[in-house]
Amino acid sequence: MTEQPRKPRATSSKSLPDRAGYFGDFGGRYVPETLTAALDEFDAAYRKMRRDREFRHELDRILAEFVGRPTPLTEAPRFAELCGRFRLFLKREDLNHTGAHKINNAVGQALVARNMGKKRIIAETGAGQHGVATATACALLGLQCVVYMGEVDMARQELNVFRMRLLGAEVVPVSSGSRTLKDAINEAIRDWVTNVRTTHYILGSVLGPHPYPMVVRDFQSVIGREALVQLRKRVGKTPDVAIACVGGGSNAIGLFYEMLKHESIRMIGVEAGGRGPKLGDHAARFSGGMPGVLHGTHSMVLQDEFGQISETHSISAGLDYPSVGPEHAYLQQVGRIEYHDCSDELALEAFHRLSEKEGIIPALESSHALGWLMRNGNDIATGSVVVANLSGRGDKDVPQIAALEQRHT
Ligand SMILES: *Cc1c(COP(=O)(O)O)cnc(C)c1O
Repeated sequence: MTEQPRKPRATSSKSLPDRAGYFGDFGGRYVPETLTAALDEFDAAYRKMRRDREFRHELDRILAEFVGRPTPLTEAPRFAELCGRFRLFLKREDLNHTGAHKINNAVGQALVARNMGKKRIIAETGAGQHGVATATACALLGLQCVVYMGEVDMARQELNVFRMRLLGAEVVPVSSGSRTLKDAINEAIRDWVTNVRTTHYILGSVLGPHPYPMVVRDFQSVIGREALVQLRKRVGKTPDVAIACVGGGSNAIGLFYEMLKHESIRMIGVEAGGRGPKLGDHAARFSGGMPGVLHGTHSMVLQDEFGQISETHSISAGLDYPSVGPEHAYLQQVGRIEYHDCSDELALEAFHRLSEKEGIIPALESSHALGWLMRNGNDIATGSVVVANLSGRGDKDVPQIAALEQRHT
């Protein structure tokens, strides 16, 4: 194969990451040397498969027959009235099998792993959503599945632990450090270093060393591809605004990726504003973070003045992470996507309003995008078409909300 001559870099990241896995200044691969060969192997296998007709057919068949794609696009006029004078369409990732967008990536990576001859899958999970999606994909494809989870998270998310076990996965409690997500990630990496010949590590968001941010983005980009087709049918044009919540950033880049080339589309990512702007009280990496390296990638990271990774807080577990996908860091830097945040309180308000007004209980993560619209929607031009990614359903959050309301009454 011959190298293509380098074209000047457009603000669209269609041609990114580069060979070394960089999106401008961000991304790359900061890992122990023992993993370099495995990441190269995964990169090569993935690039080959994504051009392979048979692979794409099988993935499309699974997405249609098992995941339930295409997901509907639902107009939400009664909720939109609370926000402003625009038309609001929800991309219903909450209607996917297992209740969120994470399954799009889990089945994609599991299929690549199986075709690579890997029989064992490992993953880490915080709230349990990615663990459940991975365990589901492994059951479907007959792969062994081991999920690392901090002991604190296991206690908080008992139901998801039970779900994973029902699906045939082994859930390994992690008792080191703060016994939460970042400790589970460390354990999963340790396992991978030891068992790299037989094992593939399924990462759950557009994070980690190259090629993960690219692979996860590609598998999630089906969201925006479908939304553009659905909007063309419904309103005869591309949307004026696209908005999504940003944890690691996979559901957001999934919605945005195919829209980047349409310069007229305003794109908004919403992070967790938590309790307020003090370090430790939120997970707003763009307003509160600095460039740094965490879990194998260079991106915007919440850290103190000495470079210590800071604690984070969010009402929604899925947004509660100190770093963000490197492609988002790049798209923010070049000014293609705006990033704002939404507080716990406002997200909670949106959670209730969407439930009452539209009969859809949204995930607390997705509620952040809706909360931002409630607060700022008056600035969006009358008659605009807005598409918001409803990344997941709120059933998983109902016990937490119930406990919260009980405390307040
Ligand atoms: C995990 C999760 C998120 C956050 O992850 P991203 O990679 O930022 O998409 C958002 N919404 C739901 C429903 C989730 O489960």
